[in-house]
Amino acid sequence: MRRPIVAGNWKMHGSRAENARLVEELLAQAPASAAADCVVCPPLVYLQEVGRLLRDSLFVLGAQDVCADTQGAFTGEVSAAMLKDVGCVYVIVGHSERRLLYRESDQLVARKFAAAHSKGLIPILCVGEQLADREAGRTREIVARQLDVVLELCGAGTLERAVIAYEPVWAIGTGRNATPEQAQDVHSFIRGRIATRDAKIAAATRILYGGSVKAGNAAELFNMPDVDGGLIGGASLKADEFLTILAAARRAE
Ligand code: PEP
Repeated sequence: MRRPIVAGNWKMHGSRAENARLVEELLAQAPASAAADCVVCPPLVYLQEVGRLLRDSLFVLGAQDVCADTQGAFTGEVSAAMLKDVGCVYVIVGHSERRLLYRESDQLVARKFAAAHSKGLIPILCVGEQLADREAGRTREIVARQLDVVLELCGAGTLERAVIAYEPVWAIGTGRNATPEQAQDVHSFIRGRIATRDAKIAAATRILYGGSVKAGNAAELFNMPDVDGGLIGGASLKADEFLTILAAARRAE
């Protein structure tokens, strides 16, 4: 049985004081245990401090990005080993904001995935189509391409310690989530695509949905058979919303 994951991507929000308040609220309201793994991904400069505040809780630390190279003259970059060193367990790679705003190619994303994986971080690989792609009926083609580049470079075996997040770009931060059926359709396509390389790994791979998940729609999305939790942006900045989403992430027995 795949254990769900709920991961909060704080993006470029917060301050030391705001983070401390958010973590305090999360810790005060969190259940003693959860049916899902729970990850928070603060901005890079706050990782260590948020990690310290979350120590011994059910929340683990993730980063929002990583350098594809291991070390050297790469001004401004941060390596997978460094993220691991400050306590990260997960790292998001290929978020659509990085693909679109910073022109990250499929190849670069695949190299980031490889770098993270090789240092023992669990990459959360984001894939997803833009609105024009969906309207042109190209969703599967886009998602397959983004996924295949990673599988070609790294092999399906790496998915034993990795997570995929299907995030339709048109649903991110727009308040317009994919319907549960739309999400399920793409999730099952992704699982099938992995299964053409390794059926056992495909069955075990956790595939998260991301895109305007809120307290009010999480349960219906997470109830779909191939949706194994969510990657949450805006709603992860509000403790009560995020914890309601976490509570919705449980597998039917
Ligand atoms: C995201 O940024 O990954 C995301 C899903 O954002 P939001 O939940 O705000 O749509």
